[in-house]
Amino acid sequence: MRGKNSLLMMLLLMVATVIFVRCDSDEDSDLDNMNDDMENAGDDETEYQADISVLKDLFYHTDAVTFTFDDEWVTITSKDLPDHVSVYYDESDPLYEDYTKEDDSDFIKNPNTIGEQNNVFKIPRYPSEASVKESTSGGAIGVTINSVSFFNQEAAPGDDILDELKTFDQYEGHPAGTQYHYHNEPVWLTKFRDNADNEALVGLLLDGFPVYGTHEDGVQMTNNDLDDYHGHFGVTDEFPEGIYHYHITDDLPWINGDGYYGTAGTVTN
Ligand SMILES: [Zn+2]
Ligand SMILES: [Zn+2]
Repeated sequence: MRGKNSLLMMLLLMVATVIFVRCDSDEDSDLDNMNDDMENAGDDETEYQADISVLKDLFYHTDAVTFTFDDEWVTITSKDLPDHVSVYYDESDPLYEDYTKEDDSDFIKNPNTIGEQNNVFKIPRYPSEASVKESTSGGAIGVTINSVSFFNQEAAPGDDILDELKTFDQYEGHPAGTQYHYHNEPVWLTKFRDNADNEALVGLLLDGFPVYGTHEDGVQMTNNDLDDYHGHFGVTDEFPEGIYHYHITDDLPWINGDGYYGTAGTVTN
């Protein structure tokens, strides 16, 4: 009987050991799964960062704008020469065209002429929200897909932007010195050029966040649809996972509001 009992004990021990080991290994794999889940959850939060290098081919005016990038920066070099006619081109330029506003006898030509620039925009390739939002300053705050600089909603010191509106040419731009720029809707891109699309990308601001047209899903954007910086988060054609982006509106401040939403890069002229 003793032999039988100890055999039984041994069997029980073996079963218990097997159960213990199995439980143990189950726990291990549960832990592993949990770790994996946690790692994946961490990845999900940091994994998706919009990469604006995908916008390269949309900068179509390649005679005047080049787009290169490395791991950290997109570098856009622009001559700031619009591909549309302007009364501000030199009269010898094929793109010179005389202009008087048909519906607005107010047009006043400023004394400047468009000249080739060498603007170098160094823009974060993976734009991110700034913890402290910087205001924009005078000069270029961004660049359009046709090489033109965006300026903010302020006129040159001492001038009123609403007076300066009178000096905007056929396509709503004008030069400061020789530097051509848009303060408001670049209508060549949104309305008039071949393939003009009022929902499409029009350019980038210095912080790397893209600027889209006046409409979204067929609806005209207003300042009420946008935050203080004149943008919002949402899906666009180029960023199906969503990205913060600016929109152009009819009303002031037109392109940018209270400053850059993201951490701005640099521009030299
Ligand atoms: Zn201006
Ligand atoms: Zn939008």
